[in-house]
Formats: sequence, C-alpha cells, structure tokens
Amino acid sequence: MAYAIGAACIDIKDKTCMDVCPVECIYEGGRKLYINPVECIDCGVCVPTCPVEAIRPLEEFDGGDIEFATDNATFFSEALPGHEYPLGNPGGVSRTGTIGVDTTLVSGYHPR
Ligand code: SF4
Ligand code: SF4
Repeated sequence: MAYAIGAACIDIKDKTCMDVCPVECIYEGGRKLYINPVECIDCGVCVPTCPVEAIRPLEEFDGGDIEFATDNATFFSEALPGHEYPLGNPGGVSRTGTIGVDTTLVSGYHPR
C-alpha cells in the first residue's frame, strides 16, 4: 500500500505534510505536491496533517480524482516539462529542492 496526494492539494500546497514525512518522499511541483510511491514507507503520518484531506492510500482513490492515484507515480516516472529525464527516485526532497513544474494532468487541471 502506498499513499498519494489527490486533487484537493492543487493551489493549496501549504506543505504541512512535507514537514512530517520521515523519509522526505513528498516532492513539490508547481501547483501541487507528489508522493514518490517507491520511497514512501507507508507510515501514514502525513495523512492527518492535511487540512483538505488530499492524502489517501491508493486504494481509497475513487470517483472524482481517481486519476491522481497514478499521477503521483507519473511525476517521477516520466520526464516533466523542461526536464530531459524522469526524476526517478531521488532519495529525498532535500536532494532536489522544489521541482516547480507539474504533470500534464495537474498543470491543465481546472476544479469542477
Ligand atoms: S505515508 Fe509516511 S512515508 Fe509516505 S508520504 Fe506520508 S509521511 Fe511520507
Ligand atoms: S498538507 Fe495537504 S494540501 Fe498541504 S501540501 Fe500536503 S497534500 Fe497539499
């Protein structure tokens, strides 16, 4: 079981969750944050810190933002705009700093 961040984080991005993650596997895009599914140790510590309940286990994604369950992984597995290579598994946000760009899904997302 891995955790992912859903649509509710978009344009909120207060980063409370980043401060509590013990393995620094929550990375910052432009409009949203993304959990690296390989680096996440599934501790669940970040879940109650989110003011908009955007963080959920993958199996709890359904309905309106189900595509965000896989989009967190896409952020790391496909080259982002302006990047020649995918991020892969960087080993912690302190090594990358802010990424500052988003997946195609998020950059073009408009709340319904
Ligand atoms: S579940 Fe734990 S390891 Fe995974 S993103 Fe949240 S705080 Fe980090
Ligand atoms: S706590 Fe929630 S809204 Fe804030 S950055 Fe993390 S996922 Fe986004």
